[in-house]
Amino acid sequence: MHLFDVAIVGGGPAGSSCAASCAVAGLRTLVLDREKFPREKVCGDCLNPSCWPVFERLELTERVRDLPHSKLSSVEFIAIDGRKVIVDFPSGAGCEISVKRSLLDDLLLNRAGELGADVHEQTTATGLSENGHWKIETASGEFFQARILIGADGRNSTVARLCNLFPASERERVALQAHVPRPRDFGERVVLQFLPEGYSGQAPVNETQLNLCLVGTPPTISTLRRWAERQFDVPANQPWRTITPLTRPPIPSAHENLFFIGDAARVVEPFTGEGIYYALRSGELAANVIAKILRGYDRNSALRDFGRAYAQMYRGRLWINRLSRAAVLRPHLGSLLIQAARISPAILKLLTAKVVSPGR
Ligand SMILES: Cc1cc2nc3c(=O)[nH]c(=O)nc-3n(C[C@H](O)[C@H](O)[C@H](O)COP(=O)(O)OP(=O)(O)OC[C@H]3O[C@@H](n4cnc5c(N)ncnc54)[C@H](O)[C@@H]3O)c2cc1C
Repeated sequence: MHLFDVAIVGGGPAGSSCAASCAVAGLRTLVLDREKFPREKVCGDCLNPSCWPVFERLELTERVRDLPHSKLSSVEFIAIDGRKVIVDFPSGAGCEISVKRSLLDDLLLNRAGELGADVHEQTTATGLSENGHWKIETASGEFFQARILIGADGRNSTVARLCNLFPASERERVALQAHVPRPRDFGERVVLQFLPEGYSGQAPVNETQLNLCLVGTPPTISTLRRWAERQFDVPANQPWRTITPLTRPPIPSAHENLFFIGDAARVVEPFTGEGIYYALRSGELAANVIAKILRGYDRNSALRDFGRAYAQMYRGRLWINRLSRAAVLRPHLGSLLIQAARISPAILKLLTAKVVSPGR
């Protein structure tokens, strides 16, 4: 049985960026994903400008730009009473865009394969054991072995569950998402709309389709869906994708021969649209530390560097995400903030500029 240096469970942005970087570093890299790509995923489809430097390092910038997408010029915040505040996004090459996850994730996973990672789709990790190296069992009965294991399998990480590291979390909120016909005059804006039962995010993803996300609680989500059906002429038989939880405690990223990246490590509030960036960047950082460890660098100092870079990725950003979570958990409070921003827009502009500033 072939022994991989690294086995990555999950081929989303975190797993693919990690796999691509591991392969470039010369590591024998395996990626397992339970889905057949291209596949959609519950997401607002917005790419924070911080993603561009990661695409650059993966030599994917042009190919991302070639995907059908929308350039986003502004964000419109709408309060419960319908009052609005519009904040412009930076323009130019490093601007915020929206692109369907089916397209983006397929491109990223293919890139990992091109660079030498061994990618297995429709392969669900179901069991784990460690005895000097990891043995990963899959639903089909096939198994794989690797020296280092990465959980890149999203917010409900099976790897974390199998390792007894999954934190207790409530099904406090639930999200629904669909691609619906783009209203004719929608323009190139993202809409973040507070509603009495939660909030909605809307973003055009191409000439004809709008990404529509709804976030509510289990008892209120069907009211939100009926609101969306009326507002956007969505047929009652429209298929919606769903996901929960929206919030859960983080899992430490680095363990003995085991790492968690992307949503598997930390779930952030979707309102600020940054999860894909954290997934891509944490994947790169994990690949970096693993390459150092496997090449025999001092393990503790490699892990210390990783810890610093990982913390740096969130520095100056997480508090805004927490602030937005506080606002969306109490939509009436969020609406009051929008009304305040109509009188004095500087603070909202500053917070938005911090979220959509170009990355490293
Ligand atoms: C409502 C909503 C809106 C959002 N909007 C945005 C946005 O606009 N912009 C943004 O940047 N972020 C947004 N996010 C966050 C973003 O979707 C995530 O942060 C991002 O997808 C995390 O990437 P990942 O690779 O860590 O995990 P995922 O994208 O979840 O990928 C995990 C992969 O693991 C695979 N997998 C799972 N279990 C197994 C298993 N047992 N075996 C094998 N494979 C497995 C899955 O099939 C999947 O492909 C949003 C999230 C939500 C909920």
